[in-house]
Amino acid sequence: MSNPSLLILPGDGIGQEVMAEVRRVIDWFGAKRDIHFDVSEDLVGGAAYDKHGTPLHDDTMAKAQEVDAVLLGAVGGPAYDDLDFSVKPERGLLRLRKEMDLFANLRPAQCFDALADFSSLKKELVAGLDIMIVRELTSGVYFGEPRGIHMEDNMRVGINTQRYTEAEIERGARAAFDMAMKRSKKLCSMEKANVMESGILWRDVVTEVHADYPEVELSHMYADNGAMQLVRAPKQFDVIYTDNLFGDILSDCAAMLTGSLGMLPSASLGAPMANGRPKAMYEPVHGSAPDITGQGKANPIACILSFAMALRYSFDQGDEAARIEAAIEKVLADGVRTGDLLGDEDTVGVSTSGMTDAILAA
Ligand code: ATP
Ligand code: MG
Repeated sequence: MSNPSLLILPGDGIGQEVMAEVRRVIDWFGAKRDIHFDVSEDLVGGAAYDKHGTPLHDDTMAKAQEVDAVLLGAVGGPAYDDLDFSVKPERGLLRLRKEMDLFANLRPAQCFDALADFSSLKKELVAGLDIMIVRELTSGVYFGEPRGIHMEDNMRVGINTQRYTEAEIERGARAAFDMAMKRSKKLCSMEKANVMESGILWRDVVTEVHADYPEVELSHMYADNGAMQLVRAPKQFDVIYTDNLFGDILSDCAAMLTGSLGMLPSASLGAPMANGRPKAMYEPVHGSAPDITGQGKANPIACILSFAMALRYSFDQGDEAARIEAAIEKVLADGVRTGDLLGDEDTVGVSTSGMTDAILAA
């Protein structure tokens, strides 16, 4: 049998630096665990623009459609700020998401005990926190028609439309229930069924899909209450399923429960492929961080955790993913810190590769 395939797109800025560390982790799995991948690497974002005049070459797009998973670093940077919108680095990322039809965005909010002091909440509220937000990513108010700014009675009117088909709600719901089955079988769906038609439909469809997942305990919550509960008692949640707009806000909110941007992985999943696993792209939540590029300061953990998500959700290697997470927990407990995890500006932490050294040793 051939090895599972992985397309690596480091992109720009610290994307390249943190991805080099992930390659070391992948090599470690080959050498120490006899787990091998067919890894190919290609360009995206500004790096692709510099070479091809486009932020994503058609050949790269085709490769992304074929592999078992894509791992992306970050795109963009000041050198590309003045480019025409059609060739901006971010367009490469958007094209990948759109053409792979990645409709479910997974954002874990996991609090490592050693960093619980970093949370915006009290330590006891977040220690051990482990939430997964599943956000619908390809529809809703960010895409619905009609939209635009029009004149009405001599006044400008801004219009966006929240629109969801039952098929769109259902496929995201299935991704969320599948996720709940892999975790603690608890799902909370969030909408505003009290004031929005799309919310009423959302609640109906999620309830219908629940019939196929009788083992999962399903609850419904209005999204405003959900926001309040997330900062009041976040540990009550395991998997949360919500729409594009509410998910955008709630996932950023949940992210700040756990500390630094340099710690947060994400995944975007699409429809099942021939092998039964979903199309998938994994990436750190952070961007290309031009301010620290080239200085060896970037924290590689978000990208390494994104690879761990790939192990768990694309390659059925949950135990190996847990191995990575446990190693990270250990080095943090040992006090190993990149600069972003140090409160005091004057203290020097370990370098990007120094953090990986510690993780591999652990
Ligand atoms: P984008 O527009 O691509 O989302 P952004 O402007 O929101 O980018 P990021 O690049 O995500 O910004 O990061 C914001 C700041 O957080 C960076 O400038 C950097 O100082 C810090 N930062 C982000 N990621 C990391 C990381 N992995 N390690 C250390 N610091 C980081
Ligand atoms: Mg940003």
